[in-house]
Amino acid sequence: RQKRYRGYIFEKVGEVFNTFYTKNLPFQLTGAQKRVLKEIRNDVGSGRQMNRLLQGDVGSGKTLVALMSMLLALDNGYQACMMAPTEILANQHYETIKELLFGMDIRVELLTGSIKGKRREAILTGLLTGDVKILIGTHAVIEDTVNFSSLGFVVIDEQHRFGVEQRSRLSGKSSYTPHVLVMTATPIPRTLALTVYGDLDVSLMKGLPPGRKPIKTLCYTDEKRADVYAGLIHQVKEGHQAYIVAPLIEGSDTVDAKSATDLYEELTQTFLKGIPCGLLHGRLKAEEKDAVMADFVSGKTKVLIATTVIEVGVNVPNATLMIIEGADRFGLAQMHQLRGRVGRGSSQSYCVLLTGSNQPQTLERLQIMRSCSDGFLLAEKDMELRGAGQLFGVRQHGLPDLYIADILRDT
Ligand code: ADP
Ligand code: MG
Repeated sequence: RQKRYRGYIFEKVGEVFNTFYTKNLPFQLTGAQKRVLKEIRNDVGSGRQMNRLLQGDVGSGKTLVALMSMLLALDNGYQACMMAPTEILANQHYETIKELLFGMDIRVELLTGSIKGKRREAILTGLLTGDVKILIGTHAVIEDTVNFSSLGFVVIDEQHRFGVEQRSRLSGKSSYTPHVLVMTATPIPRTLALTVYGDLDVSLMKGLPPGRKPIKTLCYTDEKRADVYAGLIHQVKEGHQAYIVAPLIEGSDTVDAKSATDLYEELTQTFLKGIPCGLLHGRLKAEEKDAVMADFVSGKTKVLIATTVIEVGVNVPNATLMIIEGADRFGLAQMHQLRGRVGRGSSQSYCVLLTGSNQPQTLERLQIMRSCSDGFLLAEKDMELRGAGQLFGVRQHGLPDLYIADILRDT
């Protein structure tokens, strides 16, 4: 592949990158960020088309690496595009990146399914004239109507949510295939990554930016709920915010599990009476989701009661508590992702796993979360416990089912 596919050559680090680096960058890059940026620079300068998978644990700072890589494209006369799996995430990237680029004259646009009419037209025109330099969006960016004047660099965030087919559709949007950086926080053991994503080079980012305190993980059965919610109120009184995650959207007669909607009704009448709460799940309309998310980001609501729609990517550094209701229904890697929503600022953060189950195996499994904060290790444990099928099913990854091999045993 490396010999066959020619890529655009980004010769120089220019004014855009340097201005950002010297004036706008709010902190020092971590060693891991620098290393990965160097790997990317080597690739895009080589004349080959880059296809790189960046695996970095939750909170390791992948967005910044993506942005700085895109700035390299701009410096060399190309446009860049970043695709995220949900509107919430696309929105958040758009806001973050606009803020990071403040004062720099770079047109960044957001394109999602809910952006229509005149605004959409203006963006599409801007892409064709080359006026729009960075496009951020959801699946909407791979529609046939979206065309660029010179797309040179593509970032796909939270790659595990996209199929192989979508990846190649985005890469097909310019004469040469643009450089592609796919990012995931779903940790895949390295050997496995090479097998699963055979066509990608792999970069690893371990460790978190400095100044973060390890998240304390606690595990209780439902008898302790009142105490747990007292703890939540304490965090809110300290000026912090919290998430509560439930396994279902709405109550169900057939599945014995808590739903976000019921929890919202219950908690706002009881433990959390008087505290501004938001409710977020996948069945809300895009505008409703945006509004709920915006209220939480701005601190207007203190508690966000949600389903796993907040599993990936959401970044609100003031949130210090994650409560997972019905924790026995979640996989370890998934809970690790959820836990990664807190511990993003400098305050001590907590993750509380609540379960109605007294089963020894269940409690034992939840205990693993307490002792382990390494996403890569948790993913391996998860595979041991649940079987690889759920992690690498065809619907999630565009891979054929394996009938004979056991992905873990036969790594
Ligand atoms: P993820 O890798 O999970 O996508 P993000 O890119 O959302 O993580 O980054 C998490 C948080 O860490 C953000 O608030 C970001 O501003 C911050 N961050 C990123 N890089 C650094 C750094 N080098 N030093 C300090 N904070 C950083
Ligand atoms: Mg992210």
